[in-house]
Amino acid sequence: MIWTATTIAEMYALLDEGLSWSAVGARMGCSKNTIAGKLRRLGQRPRPASEPPVHLPSPPPMPSVRTCQWIEGDDPRAWVFCGEPVWRGVYCRACFARCYQRLPVAA
Ligand SMILES: [Zn+2]
Repeated sequence: MIWTATTIAEMYALLDEGLSWSAVGARMGCSKNTIAGKLRRLGQRPRPASEPPVHLPSPPPMPSVRTCQWIEGDDPRAWVFCGEPVWRGVYCRACFARCYQRLPVAA
């Protein structure tokens, strides 16, 4: 989302219609969190009473500092750490290779 005076005005117009942050985001092609973040940065509007706070599940317990901290999966309710012995930094050799891939050098 690129914020301009026009998109900010559009956001406020939709909010003034009484739409929720989710609905405003859907209309503008972005997420509810994008709207919430922009409003926070503008220093305005508390969370609407109609939208209860989002409770994300707790992250899994942190593994030992000597085991790989690569998180498997996209669902935060099912996150699991790799757990292999650390090779470099906080990752095992395989996860380090997945995380730090070299980009092809332009000719
Ligand atoms: Zn790993």
